Amino acid sequence: MISEQKVECMQCHKTKELLKALAATVGPTGLLASDALVSRATSVWNPKPMAALALIRPKSTAEVSAVLRLCHQASQNVVIVGGGTGPVAGAEPSSESIAISLERMNRIEDIDPVNASCVVQAGTCLQNVQEAVAAYQLLFPLDLGARGSCTIGGNIATNAGGINVLRYGSMRGLVLGLEAVLPDGTVISSMGRLLKNNAGFDLKQLFIGTEGTLGVVTRAVLRLFPKQSARQTAMIAFSSFEQVADFLQLAKLKLGATLSAFEAMWQSYIEEQLRFYQRRSPFMDRHAFYVLIETEGADEELNKLALNETLELALGKGIIADAVVAKSDQERQRLWDLREDLEPFVRNKPFFGYDVGVPIGDMPAYVGIVEANLRHRWPNSVCHTMGHIADGNLHFFIQPGDVDAFKVDCDEDVYGPLKQFGGTISAEHGIGFEKRSWLLRNRSAEEVALMRSLKKALDPKGILNRGCVFE
Ligand SMILES: Cc1cc2nc3c(=O)[nH]c(=O)nc-3n(C[C@H](O)[C@H](O)[C@H](O)COP(=O)(O)OP(=O)(O)OC[C@H]3O[C@@H](n4cnc5c(N)ncnc54)[C@H](O)[C@@H]3O)c2cc1C
Repeated sequence: MISEQKVECMQCHKTKELLKALAATVGPTGLLASDALVSRATSVWNPKPMAALALIRPKSTAEVSAVLRLCHQASQNVVIVGGGTGPVAGAEPSSESIAISLERMNRIEDIDPVNASCVVQAGTCLQNVQEAVAAYQLLFPLDLGARGSCTIGGNIATNAGGINVLRYGSMRGLVLGLEAVLPDGTVISSMGRLLKNNAGFDLKQLFIGTEGTLGVVTRAVLRLFPKQSARQTAMIAFSSFEQVADFLQLAKLKLGATLSAFEAMWQSYIEEQLRFYQRRSPFMDRHAFYVLIETEGADEELNKLALNETLELALGKGIIADAVVAKSDQERQRLWDLREDLEPFVRNKPFFGYDVGVPIGDMPAYVGIVEANLRHRWPNSVCHTMGHIADGNLHFFIQPGDVDAFKVDCDEDVYGPLKQFGGTISAEHGIGFEKRSWLLRNRSAEEVALMRSLKKALDPKGILNRGCVFE
């Protein structure tokens, strides 16, 4: 009989051999050993040093393929690390896993104005793509608060949404083609630039929104749009959520395709921002709800006129209580800071964050139930709410006001009532490790079984992002 110690020793030897082979594959600067990771935070949400056997930093698709082949042969668990901005712990390696980062695959390979597309490596930061294509009067419309840190690979793996989904859709619709490496090292290249391609299955969709469980995305062809030169930004105040919903309908009708953002904030969200930064409110009075809207068009005067007419019409109909329109880039930025700066909500621990989805008409009832649940559990709790509500997406930043509070209890209060409204536990961040136990309560057994079958077919040894999405 082999003793436990001997098994451990054999395992140790296997790991050492694997690390040696990986180092030979990616070169001396391509592998950071575990002791070199002490100064690297696990993610933007988790400041603890990254734990992993090693962090592998390939420089090409061929290297990613060779790394995965070695790990597959050794049945070694691999965790894909992007910008580390995802809040569901999907990119947080354990001390038994090999972490793989595409940070050295961060090149924009090609910008093609004629076909309105660009080819980028998956480790490229989102903001770099936005800025590079802007030089060609083109727009890559995915935009979110973490733009300066998140990567295109992470955006694809999470099917990221953000502030322009209303007009341009989420990442799924912005990827024309992609290249991915399967867990056994096979490279799948679907790098077409075509908007329409129905020749067989649309394989790229396998890797969009599947949180790195089916393959490592290495390159992508992204869809671009003409950059509109005229932009208008306004903050609007409302006394009820019904008014917010009515105004959304009116704005869609009157502003049409120029309406690019519609970001709602509940009173406590704005007031915490103002209090924390000692900022002045854009309004004289307090209001129950605030919405930041943005329009983008080709003609400055027409764009301005359309927004002003819409606001006047809404005022006349009594749909809105007040409105301010930004008159400069600085004023615009000040309004966006009120929406995007999350520091006031995440600085105090514990805090619990959520990205649920609920049909817009049901939002007041659902939020009311969540707030009542929280008050009942933690009388001193505060729930700051905002969201991309035109996409049916709400974010909660919950401060329980109780140092012994547990997230599992909060999950019950937030996720529990979703079913009666046909809501989702994730409108944009995914499942990761944080929401696994809720997957079966939110999706049917048949849906989850099919997800598992796909995982098994593409990753029979379960080496890639093991434990992410599924228990
Ligand atoms: C301030 C702030 C605002 C945010 N706002 C939004 C928002 O409006 N909308 C939104 O959708 N999200 C938002 N997020 C969440 C986050 O930014 C997104 O989920 C983003 O897409 C994650 O990208 P990343 O590169 O940081 O990925 P990571 O967090 O590193 O990873 C996320 C997942 O993708 C996998 N992954 C990473 N790279 C690859 C790859 N190359 N191939 C395969 N799998 C990969 C990881 O294993 C992990 O499971 C926000 C986050 C912050 C901090």
